[in-house]
Amino acid sequence: MFFPRLRLIASSLLMLSASAHAADTFGPAAVPAAAQAFHVGTLEVVALQDARYVAPNDGKVFGADVGPAVVAARLKAHGLAEDRITLSVNALLVKGAGHVSLLDTGLGTKAHGGLLDSLKAAGVAPAAITDVMITHSHGDHIGGLVSASGALNFPKATIRMAAAEWEAMKKQADLADLVKTVTPQVQTFQAGDEVVPGIRAVELAGHTPGHMGYEISQGGQQLLDIGDMAHSSVLSLENPEWNMGFDGDKAVAKTTRRATLARLAKSQELVFAPHFPYPGTGRIAMEGNAFAWVPAKP
Ligand SMILES: [Zn+2]
Repeated sequence: MFFPRLRLIASSLLMLSASAHAADTFGPAAVPAAAQAFHVGTLEVVALQDARYVAPNDGKVFGADVGPAVVAARLKAHGLAEDRITLSVNALLVKGAGHVSLLDTGLGTKAHGGLLDSLKAAGVAPAAITDVMITHSHGDHIGGLVSASGALNFPKATIRMAAAEWEAMKKQADLADLVKTVTPQVQTFQAGDEVVPGIRAVELAGHTPGHMGYEISQGGQQLLDIGDMAHSSVLSLENPEWNMGFDGDKAVAKTTRRATLARLAKSQELVFAPHFPYPGTGRIAMEGNAFAWVPAKP
């Protein structure tokens, strides 16, 4: 979502460490470990908490085309602070059919990511992860692929992402070290492929060149991990047509957002959203000409 580049995380971190009140600053912040388990059919699925990320309402991120005052009014209507948009950073663990799959890896420990602690709370060792599925190559989704010293966090896992996303990732000079480290583990796929049994890649175009959602299907039940198709459970759903500063192709992303939200509101399938309030599981409701988030009951 937010940082196309890891070095932006580093600069946010510098700002964070300079403040005595980390909770009041913008950027990433640590949160307690959390692992909430549920089932999709017979598959055990666990929502893992990684971090919190606070984006300023500065007209650059949400509603870049309508301006901060309009965004502030929407935040106020929901009883939220008007100068900021607070997002969760979550990842998903899926156990079953001989695979232990991790969908996205959070920010990484260098940027306050606590995914490994949440994984521990779920009772899973990093070496037990067989597959890491990446929705896209932004820092808050790939940062946790490696440790603070740059070693693979999931040494036995095949790292899977869309071929188009891997090509884009390899072109980013500031990801060169990470690319070098993960290259032997990477296997690419095409949109629509069943990546591991029961998990299919669903193209959700616009955010990055190969941005994928993942649809988990088992025993007649379904869950769609939407990646960064929508970032805020309030703003992205009430105003899916607003420009989103982190979307690479804003026009395509808007079209994808409205079409996917409409489909999910109709199907009423379970949704996992990496940036919605933890645990990020719920359903999409139609509300007039827009949408609303209905969190799943624990
Ligand atoms: Zn993101």
